[in-house]
This record gives sequence, structure tokens and C-alpha cells, in this order.
Amino acid sequence: MNMELSRRAFLRTSGAGLAGTTLGAMGFGEAEAATAAYIKPFHLANTTETRNTCTYCSVACGIIIYSKGDLKKGEKAEIVHIEGDADHPTNRGTLCPKGAALRDIVHSAQRLQYPMLRKAGSDSFERISWDVALDKIARAMKDDRDANFIAKNADGTTVNRWLSTGFLAASATTNETAFATYKVVRSTGMLAFDNQARV
Ligand code: SF4
Repeated sequence: MNMELSRRAFLRTSGAGLAGTTLGAMGFGEAEAATAAYIKPFHLANTTETRNTCTYCSVACGIIIYSKGDLKKGEKAEIVHIEGDADHPTNRGTLCPKGAALRDIVHSAQRLQYPMLRKAGSDSFERISWDVALDKIARAMKDDRDANFIAKNADGTTVNRWLSTGFLAASATTNETAFATYKVVRSTGMLAFDNQARV
């Protein structure tokens, strides 16, 4: 038996089977069939399971996102349920209240889904593309570093510091991404470097 594959399916079907079998043993044969018929169209049936990581903190709990809609058929995927991943070594299926409410952040009207820019003098934000956003960030970083980079201190010792810009990294990343982020940020000389998980 493939334990990796069958664990959740086992729990799902064994729950149905247990309820039905127990009722059957008590002489409620029709109730057993009714229970099975009720459970069959359960809201997770025919959904696509996608593994991911909780976005909130550095514990990085494993989650499973259940969605309806077949992308291969051009349908729009709709997330209908999110729960802890029972096979994930960090949380083994559990989620804290924030993680348990993850589906709400997905469907929240306040959710930020793309880069927004508030131009100087404006009182509102407008949507911009990722290309525009990244170009603007890169330009601002380069200009600031060129203007404020400190190569040597007052004693003439090489320090290579960039103190006028900070970097806030995300916590829902892999070790490899975190390592690469650290190297890039530190290689610029930036000292103010923190993580979303501490905010
Ligand atoms: S479920 Fe809670 S503890 Fe786990 S990563 Fe999300 S916020 Fe952190």
C-alpha cells in the first residue's frame, strides 16, 4: 500500500465505512446506504488537491488546497477548502487559527493580488504590472545605493555598507530560496534585513 497516497483517502472512506457499517450492525441497512449516498457527493469529491505552505509565519505548516474547476478544460479554478497536510512533517495536519482561516484570505475583498502604485500627489492606488513594479524597485535601489554606499569608514577600513535601504523577506519560502535571498541582499552591503515572520 502506498501510505503517502492513501492516508487521507483512507481516513475519508473509512469514516464513511465506519458510520455505515456501525449503522448496518444495528439493523439500519437502509440508513447505511443513505449514509453512503450522503457522503458520496461530499464537497471535497472531484476536487484537485494541491500541496502548499501556509503564508503566515515561519513555522511554514504544510497545507492542502482543494479546488474545483478543470484548468485543462479552460475552467477557472475555485478554492473550496484548505486544511493541514497530515503527511507534512512540520504540522502533521494541524493548523493554528490563522492557518485554519486561510481560505478567507484567498477570497477576501481586501486581498492584495498584484502590485499597486500610488503616484506622488495622488490619493489612490492604481494597478501596475510586475515588470513595471520590478523595474521601479530596481531603479530606486540602484539610485539609492549609488548615492549612499559606504565603501570605507573614517579610519579607511573597507566596510562596504549600504544603510539607507532595508529588505523585508517573506517567510513562506524554501530553505533554498531563503539562502539565495540572504546572499543577494548581503552582497549589496545592506544591513537592515528582516523577515515577515518577526513583524
Ligand atoms: S498554520 Fe499557523 S503556525 Fe502554521 S505556518 Fe500558518 S500561521 Fe504559522
